[in-house]
Amino acid sequence: MAFIIDGKKISQEIKDELKEKVNEYKAKGIQITLAVIQVGGDPASGVYVGNKKKACEYIGIRSLAYELPEETTEDELLSLIEELNDREDVNGILVQLPLPEHIKEELIIQAISPAKDVDGFHPQNVGALSIGQKGFVSCTPSGVIQLLKRSGIEIEGKECVVIGRSNIVGKPMALLLLRENGTVTVCHSRTKNLKEVAGRADILVVALGRPKFINQDYIKEGAVVIDVGIHRDENNKLCGDVDFQDAVPKVSAITPVPGGVGPMTIAMLMHNCVESVRPVD
Ligand code: NAP
Repeated sequence: MAFIIDGKKISQEIKDELKEKVNEYKAKGIQITLAVIQVGGDPASGVYVGNKKKACEYIGIRSLAYELPEETTEDELLSLIEELNDREDVNGILVQLPLPEHIKEELIIQAISPAKDVDGFHPQNVGALSIGQKGFVSCTPSGVIQLLKRSGIEIEGKECVVIGRSNIVGKPMALLLLRENGTVTVCHSRTKNLKEVAGRADILVVALGRPKFINQDYIKEGAVVIDVGIHRDENNKLCGDVDFQDAVPKVSAITPVPGGVGPMTIAMLMHNCVESVRPVD
């Protein structure tokens, strides 16, 4: 029977460990502060920002909320980031994406000091990951690594296939699996014979952004399947990129949606915030 990887439980464990660390810092007079910037009133972004604030509260991290109007200019946002980069009492800066169309995301990501880039999106942090140096790592893929490790699933020497090559999930995911000594293949929309390539995986990480796209035809008997996708199905219920019901009889372990990868992203953001008070490792 398949082992259902419990992201809710594992993320709670991580948050509780972090809470303890934050208390130790507090006892030494060190307060951790995360600045969260949201531009415009996108309801989904509002929910994400709210969840991040709640997690900060739980762990004991001070959060500063900047809710800027939709018409905020690129220059105004850049000068706020500059101010926060210079503030010694701010450890982490997070700009909620997506931004309104008139603001170039790339420019904003690059304006955040790499030492405060708790999302791990700055090219310096991405570069550090690719050459095995210390730096902040993107939260969703580092959450996947924690799910695997804390479920006792070994990565070393395994055939790992990542479906998706986005900058925030697929590419850092592949680099992290490589760092853990997996043998890594990355698939994308131009991959030929996806079923055959995915079917080789001992560990299959799916981040392609299409609801229930991956069924058991793409999965090797006994594989571990990690579903990063998040969607609403025809009945408005949350689902992933994997057709869970179809896949589950064939796998040895699988993450559900909701309750799999999703909760890990915020837990790892909190991890990065805690790491931001000292040189990152
Ligand atoms: P994205 O930027 O849209 O990237 C999707 C990737 O999948 C691309 O590399 C694309 O290939 C590839 N792809 C698309 N269709 C494909 C197909 N038919 N066959 C093979 N590859 C295909 O998406 P993302 O930001 O990485 O997110 C992926 C999913 O994860 C989404 O459902 C998103 O909502 C979810 N997500 C969840 C969390 C979380 O916290 N749980 C966080 C982030 C994202 P090309 O590069 O060739 O276009």
